[in-house]
Amino acid sequence: MQQYWLNQRQGHVLAYVGAGVNWHTLVMETAARGLWGIENLALIPGSCGAAPVQNIGAYGVELADTLQAVQVMELATGQVKWLDTQQCAFGYRESIFKGALAGRVVITQLVLRLSRTPAPRLGYGDLAIRLAGSSTSTPSPTPLAVAETVCAIRREKLPDPHKLANAGSFFKNPLVPDAQAAQLLQQYPAMPHFPPGGQTKLAAGWLIDQCGLKGMRDGAFGVHQHQALVLVHFGGGNRQGLMKTADYIADQVETRFGMRLEPEPRLINPH
Ligand SMILES: Cc1cc2nc3c(=O)[nH]c(=O)nc-3n(C[C@H](O)[C@H](O)[C@H](O)COP(=O)(O)OP(=O)(O)OC[C@H]3O[C@@H](n4cnc5c(N)ncnc54)[C@H](O)[C@@H]3O)c2cc1C
Repeated sequence: MQQYWLNQRQGHVLAYVGAGVNWHTLVMETAARGLWGIENLALIPGSCGAAPVQNIGAYGVELADTLQAVQVMELATGQVKWLDTQQCAFGYRESIFKGALAGRVVITQLVLRLSRTPAPRLGYGDLAIRLAGSSTSTPSPTPLAVAETVCAIRREKLPDPHKLANAGSFFKNPLVPDAQAAQLLQQYPAMPHFPPGGQTKLAAGWLIDQCGLKGMRDGAFGVHQHQALVLVHFGGGNRQGLMKTADYIADQVETRFGMRLEPEPRLINPH
């Protein structure tokens, strides 16, 4: 793959990546070179140019953690400029490219700050357990071992969109005030939750599962049997059918837990 180049600096490596490069290919190639930073984001489908749009994330890591700058071209003027991460206004599955700059710029290049210093982030899901149990892993895993483990977990839990249509996670993990999370934890001590700090992130898949909806089928759509966060399309359905299923799930979660799940994919004319 020729569409990226690496600039070795003291202690880190800057990767200049063209927008058309396939994201997963970049992850595997940089991981194979021993570079840390994006290994937890393996097997997320799509291009590098799309990655900042929703600040792609998985296994406790977001693109924004390693992104240094984004090059954009303004569609109205053709002017090319660089935005730093603050200007990108990244949040959980959010950025300025979904907001003020939506439809106004095209992303042409990314700069990622990667590192040769080992920095495994294994605290999310069962990454650490898998790596500890892997015969090929060393006490300190390589970025390639982490990326390959992420791929293995994703292949087990997530349906292959080429075989069973899906858009990945259908709902965002809800962010709730810490006090609300604490209240829910009294009632559901096993509820997965991720660091407080004003707001606590809950696991939408767990909430859906608790409502007994994992594996449910509603006509042409359903909840995946191994991952409740993924809605699947068995074929022959339409937009109304999808939204009916999604609304039903959101209603059930709201009734039980008092929060409304929001879709993660962008919906075009949802109703
Ligand atoms: C099976 C599956 C699993 C997934 N898992 C994850 C996951 O774990 N984590 C996660 O965060 N996402 C996940 N996703 C969502 C998806 O992979 C990401 O949103 C990805 O970035 C989409 O890339 P794409 O090239 O297909 O972009 P598209 O879907 O074609 O575009 C997405 C948006 O970005 C805009 N866009 C695309 N390229 C550019 C550009 N160069 N400049 C400006 N705007 C642009 C488009 O206009 C559109 O609004 C998953 C999706 C699927 C189908």
